[in-house]
Amino acid sequence: MAVKHTPTAIVHKGQKGNNTGCGKDTKEHASLWINTSEKVNCKKNGCKNS
Ligand SMILES: [Zn+2]
Repeated sequence: MAVKHTPTAIVHKGQKGNNTGCGKDTKEHASLWINTSEKVNCKKNGCKNS
């Protein structure tokens, strides 16, 4: 599962309602996050190498 931050188009590991792999809280500004089947493109530790 992946979750996209729509303003930046960065796709993180994780899903809406939880923290991303790199530790962002998707419950903050929740309207900006969508679950997606796109490939993770976040380069931070915890999201990459997933
Ligand atoms: Zn990330």
